[in-house]
Amino acid sequence: MFVRSVEPGLITWETETDFVVVGGGGCGLSAAATAGAYDCDVVVVEKADSVGGKAEVATGQICGVDSPLQREKGIEDSPQAFYDDLLTQQTEESVDQYDLNETLITTVADRSGETIEWLIEEVGADLTLHTGRFEMSGHRVYRTHYPVHEDGVIPRAGKPVTDALHETALDRGVDVRTGFPSDQLLVDERTGDIVGVASKENPTAVPRRQEVHMIRADHVLLACDGFAANQELFADRFPEVATLDYWGTRENTGDAIRMAEELGLRLDEPLFDMHGPFTVPEGIYLPNELVKAGSIIVNESAERFMDCGDVPYRVMDIHIVEQEGGVGYLIFDQEIVDLFTNEELTRHQFGYILEEDPFAVTESIADLAVAHGLDEATLAGVIEAVNRAVNGDPDEVPHGRAYPHDLSPPFYSTKIKPMYVKGRQGIKVNERMQVRREDGTVIDNLYAGGNASESLEAGDPHVYIAGMDLMTALTEGHIVGEHVGSQYA
Ligand SMILES: Cc1cc2nc3c(=O)[nH]c(=O)nc-3n(C[C@H](O)[C@H](O)[C@H](O)COP(=O)(O)OP(=O)(O)OC[C@H]3O[C@@H](n4cnc5c(N)ncnc54)[C@H](O)[C@@H]3O)c2cc1C
Repeated sequence: MFVRSVEPGLITWETETDFVVVGGGGCGLSAAATAGAYDCDVVVVEKADSVGGKAEVATGQICGVDSPLQREKGIEDSPQAFYDDLLTQQTEESVDQYDLNETLITTVADRSGETIEWLIEEVGADLTLHTGRFEMSGHRVYRTHYPVHEDGVIPRAGKPVTDALHETALDRGVDVRTGFPSDQLLVDERTGDIVGVASKENPTAVPRRQEVHMIRADHVLLACDGFAANQELFADRFPEVATLDYWGTRENTGDAIRMAEELGLRLDEPLFDMHGPFTVPEGIYLPNELVKAGSIIVNESAERFMDCGDVPYRVMDIHIVEQEGGVGYLIFDQEIVDLFTNEELTRHQFGYILEEDPFAVTESIADLAVAHGLDEATLAGVIEAVNRAVNGDPDEVPHGRAYPHDLSPPFYSTKIKPMYVKGRQGIKVNERMQVRREDGTVIDNLYAGGNASESLEAGDPHVYIAGMDLMTALTEGHIVGEHVGSQYA
């Protein structure tokens, strides 16, 4: 039961607060840190033993439209340009099938630049604007921001931002409770109003020993992500990819969508995301840019099957899934390693990957073939064709590699496979992120944000813009925090 009817007057409330935030990830921390600046009591309940959620393990790219960093560099951008960039991603068929919510998209885009400014100026997050060599998918201008890291390798690229948000929230007196799942929305049985949430501490204890914490709140934000870690729900929504492995945090079991269904809220189209690719067998996440930069991918027959230079990762993953065994072999060389090691955007994450040592490093095509059990003659033919194509010869497989150059030893290679990282079907919201019922009416004091609310892609798998998810989570949290907090100014 994800929604419980209660008689508020008969309950012994453990906590009474102005605003409870369910989920201490990107969206929840942003909302809490924002509302905490006002005279507003805020409680964050986080299921995991630490805050951060998926925002912490993300690659850390955050798009922001008309941000101060863009303006400093003379880059002109606008919410309309952002919306148009999303529209151009839709295919002829998907335009008819998926209805992008222009109001929500332009609202989030409009507030995203201000959110970047707030993160830098008030939260103290050290962000920079990517203006380097790697082209960021889907953007007409540079609008991808990312956290600056201290020297050294870092596997959790979003952590500097979630840490800064967490600290700001604590400084502002927000009560952040970890190991504190909240899986029930409380509704006044007489009025139907949302009156709080129930949180069960110690979820692994036998039920009768669980302590049920009743939190009364005037405003509730559902910021507890989607349902990728809930295999049953995922298989129900996406049977076609249900056998793929999942990569990500374990807490996103779809509590928000369950609450929404029981409450009769309006839901978005379901959307899943594969990401990566991931190395086999280690399961290390490789950035999509590594593929696009000049690598090639072959299948078990040592043949190329896709243009590596022009692939949003969703499309790349589907190509790989279609190959024998659902795997491929990623091959690149020293020039790509140097490129990634020297580029500010990639050097920390790539340094971490190199330290994990998932790549076979080989000095000849023969050794490369042996390393993966591939046919040497076919592989040699593929690499020769790729290198000829760099010099202008026609290539059977298009070779839109971003930095075409002769692939030459030493070769770096690894077996790869796609894994899924996201499953969401968000709650429909208005521009203040207040949730909508099936009949379109709004519940004033119940909000949803990040992956718990409707996606800007409206479920269309063709629409992908790098950094859009974190932009959405952080900006929507900021919008909700302002809206709730300003009622206590
Ligand atoms: C490998 C990878 C790389 C990525 N890179 C990028 C990137 O570079 N740019 C980008 O824009 N996006 C990226 N993303 C996506 C992005 O990380 C997420 O979309 C974003 O973090 C979603 O924010 P959120 O606040 O909705 O969820 P989260 O940040 O996951 O926060 C949700 C929180 O809710 C908690 N929770 C769940 N259920 C409950 C409950 N019942 N009670 C209490 N707490 C609960 C969870 O533990 C979690 O802490 C990446 C994702 C992955 C997996």
